[in-house]
Amino acid sequence: MSHAIGNNKREYSLNLLLQDIGPNGSDMDWIVTPEQLELPSDDGRMLSNFHWIGHVTKLANSEGEAFFQGTLFGTIVRECVRCLQEFQDPMAIAIQGTFQHEHKKSVGPPRGRRMNEPMTLDELEDEWYPCDGIRLVFAPIFREHVILATPLQPLCTPECRGLCQDCGQNLNHGVCGCADKPAYSPHFANLQALADRIESSQPPVPRRSKSILRRR
Ligand SMILES: [Zn+2]
Ligand SMILES: [Zn+2]
Repeated sequence: MSHAIGNNKREYSLNLLLQDIGPNGSDMDWIVTPEQLELPSDDGRMLSNFHWIGHVTKLANSEGEAFFQGTLFGTIVRECVRCLQEFQDPMAIAIQGTFQHEHKKSVGPPRGRRMNEPMTLDELEDEWYPCDGIRLVFAPIFREHVILATPLQPLCTPECRGLCQDCGQNLNHGVCGCADKPAYSPHFANLQALADRIESSQPPVPRRSKSILRRR
């Protein structure tokens, strides 16, 4: 049975000492605070603490290398690009990877095998992360995956109607009436001014009815 490693003082910084990992691996049940994740402000802000549920196993025949997998749960508050309102974006990000000793960085992904079970093809293609052979540092990994999960164009809902271009009303809350007024566009206003100028520069068109009267 694997023993759980909780959020005690030692792991407060989202680090894990390799010596604390049991022979059958260790379960991780961690609280991840906004201070620990330090998200860039344009990637949204955490509504509250995140939750990481994972498992870590030391690699056989390795110098302090470990495989981990788990899921990071949490809600990010984002701003909708159409209506500019904040909305909550709940996320569950599955993350797995292998910590590899830093001095082996140049040789590519580790060839170590997980204790007790053969490595699958998926695991061989895992992300790998540097490790000093003493502690596993998770904060940058969590941060990277939360940033990667940020949509390029965050929308409160796919059907968001956005804001009225004229009065700024949030069209998700109802129509504003601007659509009923004649469409105004600076582009067409210029064309209209040009048309007026041409018209006024020409002599008035004689009224056909008058000329007919004169001829009679
Ligand atoms: Zn919106
Ligand atoms: Zn409007």
